Amino acid sequence: MMRIRQLPPSVITKIAAGEVIERPSSVVKELLENAVDAGSSRVDVDVEQGGIELIRVVDNGRGIFADDLPLAFASHATSKLTSADDLFQVQTLGFRGEALASIGGISQVALQSRPADQGQGAEITCHGGDLSAVRAWNGAVGTRLEVRHLFFNTPVRRKFLRTPGTEMGHICEVFTRLALARPELHLTLRHNGKDVYQLPASDRLQERIALFFGTEVGDRLYAVEARHGPVHLHGFVADPACSRGNAKMQYLFLNGRWIRDRSLGYALQEAYRGLLLTGRYAVSFLFLDMPPELVDVNVHPTKAEVRFRDAQTLFTFLHSTVRQRLTDENLTPRLQPTSTLANPQQPGAQVLPWLRPRYVEETAPLFAQGGLPAFTKVASPPAPPVPANGNPASESCLPPPPGGAPSPAQAAREAATQLPSSLPDQAKAIQLYNAYLVLETPEGMLVIDQHALHERILFEYLQERLRSGTLEVQKLLIPEPVELTAEQAARVLEQRQSLAELGLEVEDFGGGTLLVASYPALLHKRSPGQILKTIVDFLCAQDRPPTRLQLLNDLLSVMACHAAVRAGDPLTPEEIASLAAQRDLAADHHHCPHGRPTSLLFTRQDLDRQFRRI
Ligand code: ADP
Ligand code: MG
Repeated sequence: MMRIRQLPPSVITKIAAGEVIERPSSVVKELLENAVDAGSSRVDVDVEQGGIELIRVVDNGRGIFADDLPLAFASHATSKLTSADDLFQVQTLGFRGEALASIGGISQVALQSRPADQGQGAEITCHGGDLSAVRAWNGAVGTRLEVRHLFFNTPVRRKFLRTPGTEMGHICEVFTRLALARPELHLTLRHNGKDVYQLPASDRLQERIALFFGTEVGDRLYAVEARHGPVHLHGFVADPACSRGNAKMQYLFLNGRWIRDRSLGYALQEAYRGLLLTGRYAVSFLFLDMPPELVDVNVHPTKAEVRFRDAQTLFTFLHSTVRQRLTDENLTPRLQPTSTLANPQQPGAQVLPWLRPRYVEETAPLFAQGGLPAFTKVASPPAPPVPANGNPASESCLPPPPGGAPSPAQAAREAATQLPSSLPDQAKAIQLYNAYLVLETPEGMLVIDQHALHERILFEYLQERLRSGTLEVQKLLIPEPVELTAEQAARVLEQRQSLAELGLEVEDFGGGTLLVASYPALLHKRSPGQILKTIVDFLCAQDRPPTRLQLLNDLLSVMACHAAVRAGDPLTPEEIASLAAQRDLAADHHHCPHGRPTSLLFTRQDLDRQFRRI
């Protein structure tokens, strides 16, 4: 067994430095990786309060010699690397000898370990970098690490931790990545004494994928396997029907290590070209194995990014392998919804104004070809400072002051909710449970989720508006203060530009208070505070700042979700007919922006068969 040794300065200087412990999930990641490197076959993880109070990782690996325990906490001390040359031959997950030193410096750690060939184990504690003496310990073969009170001695960093729930979310992600990389390990995760995952060892990756993501993904995977010289690519890609709204489910592993790689992510998306709608992302679990000298894993502090010797060849290899695999499949969706609901010759004629936002002047149908109606876009200059007496600030503000005469916009809003005298003749539709619409169509019985479909229609409508710069904005008479935490306020201000594009103008009032000066008119039913809090939740759920386009897209989907009719809303027959008619006009009426189906078709033939007519 390799002993732990201090790395020579010549190697230390070549190691990519950087803060590795950012939050509880970073600790879990490092400890899990150490357990894997120790050759364990079982690892149990227990956390309390999202890992902020306790993280315990117990493995049955080869253990650490008593004499080496203090060294485990020394900076740049490792058993996995000896010379600088080894840096290009890395076979283990760890190699920098930094993790335990960093963890021991900012928490209270108890390390207990017993190597397989030792009759007795030993233990040591490290509190904020202070080491205890090594004592004898009677425990099972393997290593047990307890990390308590993370950041207890760095209050500022402790303060920046999120809620236990959010931190637990990050831990689950780290755990998932490792569990997918090593199906042969028996792994468990518990939170506050409750089981989160119990994963028995398995030799089938697919089984493990199904444990994490259910049969929705597990049953729709296509195995991929190809070689190119010394490079081996294997794993699964999912049917395009199980796409997602972000790239989080594109798992990529290099030599057993989870990585992210922009270029390979792009290669994957390209392989799905034509099979996915814009804004949708493929689901995949791909493993690349190659000799360590073909890749530098020492370029990123947490090793989440690597540098390939020949990135271009890999791009082509992954792209063509996945593309070929998808071409081999017959990818016709299993539930092919019908497209004959509305009269296809005259789509615009069947559109009722009800689905459109009700507050703006508008005469043309929602998806009419050419000549979108001239919406009154309220100009959005920077918000004036709030006068202490709350004077109305702008001329064209909506809504009018309470008690005032109805504004033209208000009149238009009412006009827009009037129904045209003749309804499309397709009203063989009923509403069930105030949530689903059931329609008779030539193909069969169509069941529509009213919220999902309306959400999709509004989402596309908003996208179109954003593209053409005609998104309606509602200016507030008096900017409304919204109180947030300092960190939340900072997150929102970071995205101020993109939010302004959507009509949401915010100003910093100081002390965590933001002033909302205007907001997207579609959300008129919500208070500015509610809107901002939704956006804060959304922004805080992101690992890294989203790109402008991602952010806009995601916020549009948040807006569409809020503005759409909900399950539980009763609809009039006209509204039902209108919603059904607009279904065919949406570019993707199969899925809501979150990827849930909007409708299911039970074919005439299915019904006949079930009732034994045929
Ligand atoms: P690295 O993993 O980069 O070597 P760490 O700080 O994570 O650095 O760990 C330092 C050393 O402690 C490792 O090289 C290894 O020898 C030993 N070690 C840590 N955790 C374990 C474990 N669970 N089982 C056996 N040895 C361990
Ligand atoms: Mg390590």
